[in-house]
Amino acid sequence: MKIAIYSTKYYEREYLDFYNKTAKHQMTYFEIPLNTETVATVKDFEAVCIQLTDKLDTNVIHQIAKAGVKYIALRSAGYDNVDIETAAKHKMKVLRIPAYSPEAIAEHAVALILTLNRKTHKAYNRVRENNFLLQNLMGFNLFGKTIGVVGTGKIGTAFCNIMLGFGCKIIATDLMESKELKDKGVQYVSFDTLLEQSDIISVHCPLNSKTKYLFNTAAFSKVKKGMMLINTSRGAILNTADVIQALKKAQLGYLGIDVYEGEEQLFFKDLSNVVVLDDQIERLMSFNNVLITPHQAFFTKEALHAIARITIENFNSFEDSEVTKNQVVFVLPKSL
Ligand code: NAD
Repeated sequence: MKIAIYSTKYYEREYLDFYNKTAKHQMTYFEIPLNTETVATVKDFEAVCIQLTDKLDTNVIHQIAKAGVKYIALRSAGYDNVDIETAAKHKMKVLRIPAYSPEAIAEHAVALILTLNRKTHKAYNRVRENNFLLQNLMGFNLFGKTIGVVGTGKIGTAFCNIMLGFGCKIIATDLMESKELKDKGVQYVSFDTLLEQSDIISVHCPLNSKTKYLFNTAAFSKVKKGMMLINTSRGAILNTADVIQALKKAQLGYLGIDVYEGEEQLFFKDLSNVVVLDDQIERLMSFNNVLITPHQAFFTKEALHAIARITIENFNSFEDSEVTKNQVVFVLPKSL
């Protein structure tokens, strides 16, 4: 099958090529994203393969359908960047990767916690300059601390399992309680109780209308003063302006984020030679108790293997008639 792969990063190609050795699809790589401006590049392809940075709105879907595209494969779990209803109208099959390596993201959340707490990044720089003082390097034991987990799906579960190993008390909030986690001692509590009791909160729920700005001034007024907040989920679950105020008041003692509200304009780009106009990220970076990583939580060899393997499996199953667990099916809202 002839497939156009958009938003290709240099690190992905070798993994995709590796898993395509036997499948032998004709894959054309584009570094550009697929959107209204670039849709003219879709010519003679039966399928497009995209990332979250590509925007397949109504117009783009109409145009790629006209160009002969029948299949869309997402190299991500999320698909909010694809107009599923319009794709369904054009009878296009949409496949995604529901899970690739929840441990990769969970382990990165733990890396953020340990770095912020034990200040290994500061020690690394200091020791390289022959400064062996301990001043300002003091941390705290994780053993016995209360960890609040917002969202105990695949990643939240992997995170809980790691933190249980540290001897932490885990409290969690989710729309559905996990029996597996409850059996291991995780206690489900209300969001307010989680805010009030946690020493560290880690966010693992999806971004939607209910979770947008879940962490705002009202939430920060309920937390333990000086607590640590970790977000590896989606930037807009935190209200960045409110986060900055909470940091200024020391209500938030530490912040570790792998995702950021305005990341579309910044992440996955080298901006070291230009003026960054985003004042909020610049302000965040000015706090010495804030650690920002550029959406790299997924970035492990194991996750890249899984993404490439499942992507090629999805290509192979494009023409299958049965609905697989990877297929995104458009369901009409109940009221209609
Ligand atoms: P998942 O669907 O397995 O789990 C999400 C959980 O959140 C579910 O149990 C759901 O019931 C729960 N939830 C939904 N609304 C909630 C609410 N209002 N309050 C509390 N819990 C709620 O998803 P997952 O695979 O664990 O992924 C979680 C999120 O991680 C994704 O939505 C994505 O935003 C993010 N993610 C980040 C990276 C990265 O590299 N940083 C990579 C992959 C995924």
